[in-house]
Amino acid sequence: MKKLFILTFAVLFSLNLLAQEKKEAVTLIKNVNIFDGKNERLIPGSDVMIEGNMIKEIGKNLSFQGATVIDAQGKTLIPGLTDCHTHIMWNADIEELIYSAPEGYVGALAALNAENMLMRGFTTVRDMGGPSHGLKKAIDEGAIPGPRILPTGAFVSQSSGHGDYDSRMFYLSNHFTGQIDKAYIRGWTIIADGVPEVQKATREILRAGASQIKIFGSGSITGAHDPLDVTEYTIEELKAIVKEAEHWGTYAAIHAYSSESIMNALEAGVQSIEHGLFASEEAFQLMKEKDAFFSTQFLAFSLTPEEAGMKGPAVPKYLEAQAGAAKGYELAKKIGVKMTWGTDILGSYELAKLQNQEFVARSKYFSGFEILKQATSNNAELFERSGKRHPYQEGPLGVITEGAYADLLLIDGNPLEDIKLLADHEKNIQLIMKDGIVYKNTLGK
Ligand SMILES: [Zn+2]
Repeated sequence: MKKLFILTFAVLFSLNLLAQEKKEAVTLIKNVNIFDGKNERLIPGSDVMIEGNMIKEIGKNLSFQGATVIDAQGKTLIPGLTDCHTHIMWNADIEELIYSAPEGYVGALAALNAENMLMRGFTTVRDMGGPSHGLKKAIDEGAIPGPRILPTGAFVSQSSGHGDYDSRMFYLSNHFTGQIDKAYIRGWTIIADGVPEVQKATREILRAGASQIKIFGSGSITGAHDPLDVTEYTIEELKAIVKEAEHWGTYAAIHAYSSESIMNALEAGVQSIEHGLFASEEAFQLMKEKDAFFSTQFLAFSLTPEEAGMKGPAVPKYLEAQAGAAKGYELAKKIGVKMTWGTDILGSYELAKLQNQEFVARSKYFSGFEILKQATSNNAELFERSGKRHPYQEGPLGVITEGAYADLLLIDGNPLEDIKLLADHEKNIQLIMKDGIVYKNTLGK
């Protein structure tokens, strides 16, 4: 017994030493102009001290014995970028991913996509659907490089909805035959109809570790069956999903184009409207009233169908969404809803390389400051709606402040004056730090 005690003590003692060692790693970034994620005015000529994975102190002429010093030469320090609408696992045709690709292939492409995202400056993403839990675990453990992930896991979709990916027009429903859909086995979609089924689906998704729930609430571009104008789920079903999410202290987001689906979702308490481009003025007003986020994309609707990787029946639906996009953007701006920053670029990791072009696509509608705030503190505010299901609880994300996570980028130039700098990330993002670890440093090169 005594031996066990000594052994336990020794283990605890060495763990404690390890923790102290980690804590004592200090990095000092000297001479930066700081965009703090919220204010348009840069904080000039500052130093930032990072202890472990957190920002410890911000001030002038800081010093610390034994710190690793980075001389930033008066460049701009901004919070790590965030993307609130990714599908980090979706790097091939969805039918291939679900029904035929070996799972190792799906995972390998996702690992590559994750590393690329981090190296483009994205330190946190809210993943809006797909089996990303394993990838997140490997990244959080430090096994592979990648952004922090707020995972969704499987989508909740009705029969014939966006997530009903089996493209056969006539087949015996899984529901009635007792067959199990591979989309369910592989963690992409749970098809659920009626209140009890959506409750069960939501509970299963939460059990798997979701930070938020993603509902498919209207027709889609890439869905196998549903035209874009279709409204999916009843208000009772939506309310049941929201309630389950709320029981777990989190919220639901919804893929919704039609005005009716957006109105239903807002009435049911959904807090994040994805795409939402056909929302009426009334729907945008309700979004504002309910303090919901408008999580739309700009680049994804400004490409040609070929560039966006659209095929077959997706092409006319893509063009239809594109035609409605400008009106949606203008109404959102006019009414002043809460804008997030997200891309929804999916289908191949090559295509995902366009991610930073979203900054350029938005510059038609917003100032550099507005866009950068969307991509940092606005998104972080949305992530906070996950409450205790937010995986990163040690401090705030998307801001540069004492006590925040040390997720930082150093930009050659001022992105508030020229947001397009971020599109050429290879050249202009000179330092990438996530969780206190430097992943890129080209200063002085
Ligand atoms: Zn999406």
